Amino acid sequence: MEKDTEKELTGKNFIEQIIDKDLAEGVYDEVCTRFPPEPNGYLHIGHAKSILLNYGLAQKYNGKFNMRFDDTNPTKEKIEFVESIKNDIKWLGADWEDRLYFASNYFDQMYEAAIKLIKKGKAFVCDLSADEIREYRGTLKEPGKESPYRNRSVEENLDLFERMKNGEFEDGSRVLRAKIDMASPNINMRDPVIYRVAHMTHHNTGDKWCIYPMYDFAHPIEDAIEGVTHSICTLEFEDHRPLYDWVVRELEYPHPPKQIEFAKLYLTNVVTGKRYIKKLVEEGIVDGWDDPRLVSIAALRRRGFTPESIKMFVELCGVSKANSSVDYAMLEYCIREDLKMKRPRMMAVMDPVKLVIDNYPEDQIEELEVPNNMENPELGSRSVPFGKELYIEREDFMEVPVKKYKRLYPGNEVRLMNAYFVTCTDVEKDEEGNITVIHCTYDPASKGGNSPDGRKVKGTIHWVAAKTAVQVECRLYENIVDEEKGVYNKEDGSLNLNLNFLTVLNNCYVEPELAKAEAYDSYQFVRNGFFCADCHDSKPGLPVFNRIVSLKSSFKLEKK
Ligand code: ATP
Ligand code: MG
Repeated sequence: MEKDTEKELTGKNFIEQIIDKDLAEGVYDEVCTRFPPEPNGYLHIGHAKSILLNYGLAQKYNGKFNMRFDDTNPTKEKIEFVESIKNDIKWLGADWEDRLYFASNYFDQMYEAAIKLIKKGKAFVCDLSADEIREYRGTLKEPGKESPYRNRSVEENLDLFERMKNGEFEDGSRVLRAKIDMASPNINMRDPVIYRVAHMTHHNTGDKWCIYPMYDFAHPIEDAIEGVTHSICTLEFEDHRPLYDWVVRELEYPHPPKQIEFAKLYLTNVVTGKRYIKKLVEEGIVDGWDDPRLVSIAALRRRGFTPESIKMFVELCGVSKANSSVDYAMLEYCIREDLKMKRPRMMAVMDPVKLVIDNYPEDQIEELEVPNNMENPELGSRSVPFGKELYIEREDFMEVPVKKYKRLYPGNEVRLMNAYFVTCTDVEKDEEGNITVIHCTYDPASKGGNSPDGRKVKGTIHWVAAKTAVQVECRLYENIVDEEKGVYNKEDGSLNLNLNFLTVLNNCYVEPELAKAEAYDSYQFVRNGFFCADCHDSKPGLPVFNRIVSLKSSFKLEKK
């Protein structure tokens, strides 16, 4: 991450410093930001950064936050994405109140703006083909050549532009271009196209228009119309800023908005590109756009991430001008931090083996009162049934213990978490030699897991009572990407997939309380990680759990 000395001095990031200065100098009286997605796909963690940044600034400065769909391109957009985008933003906690806008509602004003430029001699209709325009544009080293149509009269331009609007010309036959400077070192300023002919139906305006504005022309106008002050976008638009400024200046807006760029959020070894996610979905490699292995906002929500954890993550990443890539482990750190005090710690056995307490009364079920979260008494307690037959994790028993093994083995005494001390007496095996039952005796005086006589046990293991346990499916995830190879195959640009990215455990036993879990409910399963009830596959009384994250990690938060 970039060291930002200014930030160390003032505690403010570079955008806040710009805003402070603008307010102090009276450039603006009030702050207004916006989030302007194109409704052409699902939002992902990168968008979350932009949303929380824009919304956070509006909040911090007591200003306004606009939700604006940038729906000026009829080719790519679909109305179905509008609802999913709104949902995701609401879930993240960014509240646009009544400030919901659609850029396509400004087509009239954009058209008027184009006319204004023509009248000022700042725009002209050009008949060059797309290929010719490209040729005339020049390169980084060579200046461009002026279009032969550049010096058309204002009257002719007005007439041709109106006829473009009236549908007299075919797609691609004529465009409206800004008249700026073909010799500019910035290629974006070499008479950029600002309107094109496209005979297409738009999801909002239908067939009213057959000319559509280009992004670089439309976006500053949208900002200006809405009174946006600080139009925050990502770094790739830095070279477009002179054009943004040109548009708002030539259109003479009284309080022109200001574009500020910041670095995109990249996650190392994580697929964020829309094109690639689409491919994974279409090829059935993942189960839809909200597959818990993806980092779309819908997927993170389904996996069990919370808005708070995403906010914390975005804040830890900071706002910078330098591109960098963040480890997925940092996101995992944030969800662990968020959930560890907030969620109950439950017992669930992922890989069960039966344990029988031979000296425990046959049909007795005892209800033990267990604290929900030892570190947070506010979460209260619950009752957990205990009985003669239990399930424990297969890895919590070894017939021949390795060195330093503290859990159960023949002759050893351990604590059953919150219950009793038990000592292993014997095992049963099947024909192949697999252990099928572990026999133990318990000490009734050790109830609650407390030593009756100062006796020490080294191991504590979790369990569930066989009679009352609920059998559920748990899914463990790994990265979709083969981390050794990196996301993209250098030769053909395909994805390097990790084929072990999903483990489905069908034979997990959980305490009965967990049968009540509803979609999106999350818990800590002691020793096994944080889990969340899947929103598609859970049924009433029979949840399916997705592992959000394991409990431990080698990730350390660097002190900045
Ligand atoms: P497209 O390729 O379709 O333009 P996009 O990811 O840029 O995809 P938009 O809907 O245009 O999608 O993005 C909305 C906003 O989110 C923009 O302001 C954009 O700068 C911001 N944004 C997109 N990706 C990231 C990212 N990785 N980090 C931070 N902000 C992002
Ligand atoms: Mg974009």
